[in-house]
Amino acid sequence: MIKENLNEVQKNISAALSASSRKAEDLTLIAVSKTKPVEMIKEAYDLGIRDFGENRVQEIMDKYPLLPRDIRWHLIGHLQTNKVKYIIDKVCMIHSVDSYKLAEEISRQGQKHDLVMDILIEVNVAGEESKFGVKPDDAAALCEEISRLPNIHIRGLMTVAPYVEDEEENRPVFCALRQLSVDIGGKNIDNVDMECLSMGMSGDYRVAIEEGATFVRVGTNIFGHREYNRVEG
Ligand SMILES: *Cc1c(COP(=O)(O)O)cnc(C)c1O
Repeated sequence: MIKENLNEVQKNISAALSASSRKAEDLTLIAVSKTKPVEMIKEAYDLGIRDFGENRVQEIMDKYPLLPRDIRWHLIGHLQTNKVKYIIDKVCMIHSVDSYKLAEEISRQGQKHDLVMDILIEVNVAGEESKFGVKPDDAAALCEEISRLPNIHIRGLMTVAPYVEDEEENRPVFCALRQLSVDIGGKNIDNVDMECLSMGMSGDYRVAIEEGATFVRVGTNIFGHREYNRVEG
């Protein structure tokens, strides 16, 4: 099942890339494996996937020792400051930084482990109450503040778009995130790069790619639906 799903997703990705005259190297598919067992991750790994996304610290800690070392783990969910220490040496990128306090702790833990952590600033573009992320108007100031921390490197922006029936409805959201990244990039802030845009999930990754996504985070369309009443890992 994973094989067929992955083929389908990769076919759609190729189509969206060529529709927008973009190169395959400019996009990374992150397979979102939250709630899914290591056997399924191994299956996707054997099909060539190396980038996996998780949104809970505990799940990364459980899965990490059981899977190959060359997996690149992306933390895509809300991160509590007191849990940074558990994943600082396990993930390649934290997509969900939306406060200075969190960034400060990431930098502090990075210093301890002698590493510089790549992060994205999560922006709540659509202004949904239920969502994490900084307001678009506050993003540039937060980048500037975080840029002065030594062991952290801002690589771009991330957003979780609203749930919609028709993915076209999210095009303005993706377009706005890209425009924001161009604006912030134009400020030439030291230690802030804006080359990454993490946007697009199962329901809307095609449109996100057309609007410039460099990471798409696809779970359901690769691994199937999730059951939240059961804690796996
Ligand atoms: C769960 C999750 C995804 C993947 O969602 P699907 O709709 O299953 O593709 C992407 N991004 C974040 C932040 C998530 O929490």
